[in-house]
Amino acid sequence: MLTTIIYRSHICDNVPVKTLEEMVDAANKKNGYADVTGILLFNGTHFFQLLEGPEESVLTIYQHICEDVRHYNVVELLRDYAPARRFGKSGMEIFDLRRHDTNQVLQAVLDKGTSKYQLTYDDRALQFFRTFVEAREKENYFEIPSADSWDFIPDQQDMVAGVPLAASDVDCSFAFQPIIDPLAQEVVSLEALIRTPSGDSPQSWFDTYKGDDVYAADLKSKKVAFAMAAALNIGKQSLSVNLLPMTLVKIPGAVNFLMQEIHKNGLVPDQIILEFTEQEIISRLDEFTDAIRQLKAAGIRVAIDHFGAGFAGLSLLARFQPDRIKINRELIEDVHKSGPRQAIILGIIKSCTSLEISVCAVGVEKPEEWMWLESAGISLFQGYLFARPALNGVPAVAWPEKKAGF
Ligand code: C2E
Ligand code: MN
Repeated sequence: MLTTIIYRSHICDNVPVKTLEEMVDAANKKNGYADVTGILLFNGTHFFQLLEGPEESVLTIYQHICEDVRHYNVVELLRDYAPARRFGKSGMEIFDLRRHDTNQVLQAVLDKGTSKYQLTYDDRALQFFRTFVEAREKENYFEIPSADSWDFIPDQQDMVAGVPLAASDVDCSFAFQPIIDPLAQEVVSLEALIRTPSGDSPQSWFDTYKGDDVYAADLKSKKVAFAMAAALNIGKQSLSVNLLPMTLVKIPGAVNFLMQEIHKNGLVPDQIILEFTEQEIISRLDEFTDAIRQLKAAGIRVAIDHFGAGFAGLSLLARFQPDRIKINRELIEDVHKSGPRQAIILGIIKSCTSLEISVCAVGVEKPEEWMWLESAGISLFQGYLFARPALNGVPAVAWPEKKAGF
């Protein structure tokens, strides 16, 4: 199937512009053999390239392009299918935007094309050309330094392990993972993640319950979370705990139970953030928001977890605004390479900024993901890059430090 890929990237400082012609000649030959055609735009700093041809060949060539050390910050903008090539004349051709008059440059680019329709039919690929040529969206081209420009240095505080379980009738334990502001070097909250007593996943713990029993167990487990937090001497530190939304709806007195356990363990409601996964909320939203009112009246803050993973993301946000949203790892993964993820996350940030909702990125594993998200305006992070959850304890945090020379 005829596949199109469009990406943009940033030329490396050490690449002389005059070598580009040679690079394109080589690419032209190579692409020709693979039946891949396209065009490469250059504006003195950024490349913008369209590749089209049989899917497998386009993907292979794109992979090589991503590995090319002459450019960096390669962001895939479009991957799509089309009935005909738009730039079918040559394997690769370079078009230097600086050599053309600004008013005519877009037309000059389109004149290179082989598609009959040009911009008439709102073709997304050609619209990307217009945006690049007119240098719109440029404020969203974040310059991300290479991953090795940072060291991640664990702080001195080591894991505090071996906290005794709060009561003998409990069947669960918790792992704690920090939510941090890396540049402020601040732990903003600790999230308690449920485990089986031997440290297995939340799923294995949930699997031991049938039907609605899970809600009562979920609620009761928070008693253990609070007791462990107290035993870990978290002091005034914020504590995030997860709850199924239906737990609040189905268990009478759930909010009172939480309040009692918070107080019993010497904590205050203001330091607690309850995180809810969106999927289940929407079915009984009225009852849920009723419970939320009680929580808020008691001083407990609320977060929507896994934002963007379920079907209810934006419509839920329209009806109910939490104090924080946590963007799911599915959207975070490789955000520095993906135009669609970047656009979605920028949209989420914009909505949340207007609504004064704080945004946390969850599941950050790579320095580049973190750097892109910081540039986009996020300052709260949770992920293996900084700290993995520690069973029965609080892990050390690996804080980023800029290496000398970068
Ligand atoms: P969550 O609330 O989004 O918690 C974050 C999950 O992402 C944790 O998985 C954590 O281990 C994982 N994680 C954190 N950083 C990274 C990373 O950099 N890479 C990757 N791949 N994963 C990362 P965990 O502990 O398995 O928990 C899974 C989910 O189970 C939680 O997702 C939460 O929705 C649910 N859960 C945990 N504890 C409870 C609880 O007490 N009650 C309820 N109802 N749900 C809970
Ligand atoms: Mn959570």
